[in-house]
Amino acid sequence: MFIVFEGIDGVGKSTQIELLTGALVELGYDVVSTREPGGTEVGEEIRALLKSDYSMGIRSELLLMLASRSQHVDAVIRPGIERGCVVISDRFEASTFAYQGYGRGGDLSRLRAINEFATGGLKPDVTFLIDRESSFRATFDEDRFESAGIEFAKRVREGYLELSREEGWVVIDGDREINTIQGEILEHLRLLGLTNIKEGKS
Ligand code: ADP
Repeated sequence: MFIVFEGIDGVGKSTQIELLTGALVELGYDVVSTREPGGTEVGEEIRALLKSDYSMGIRSELLLMLASRSQHVDAVIRPGIERGCVVISDRFEASTFAYQGYGRGGDLSRLRAINEFATGGLKPDVTFLIDRESSFRATFDEDRFESAGIEFAKRVREGYLELSREEGWVVIDGDREINTIQGEILEHLRLLGLTNIKEGKS
């Protein structure tokens, strides 16, 4: 199974991934917890480049993201799924559509096509979009995405929400207690046949 967490920075993705990983390991699942950009040696180098202050055009940024994703799919995600692990990724293709599409103004149909080339068509079984009104912090860290500011973050957030309707992502209200959110995520996974707590490993 392949689970993805999405949402703008600070909505609580890593918090929920850590909790979910712990809960699934407890239930006896083998879990691979990973992230984008990154997740592989090459991907982490690319992540550092993307977070640098080098000037970079939208296509270069996009192609670097997709180079990282392609390596991630081939070296981590597909092998993990094939070994029977639950693979959990902090970000995947939805980030490309929201950031490079809605955030940077890239053409969505072209983004979808080139993304599919990078992923070989691999799709998550479920994408959780954490949406958190209060995550619009007054200060943004100084990296390529966060320094672009609040207007950019708003476009990305709205893009995520708009896309979620057609893509079938599960939108999670992130403005609640961490444990309440975790419970809702586990409940969704239960409905998908994962986390059969009583039955144990499936
Ligand atoms: P992301 O991975 O999406 O950037 P994090 O999981 O790192 O977000 O969370 C950002 C900050 O918000 C952290 O300090 C975290 O402890 C806090 N946080 C996460 N979830 C919640 C929540 N539901 N309510 C309040 N604070 C939260």
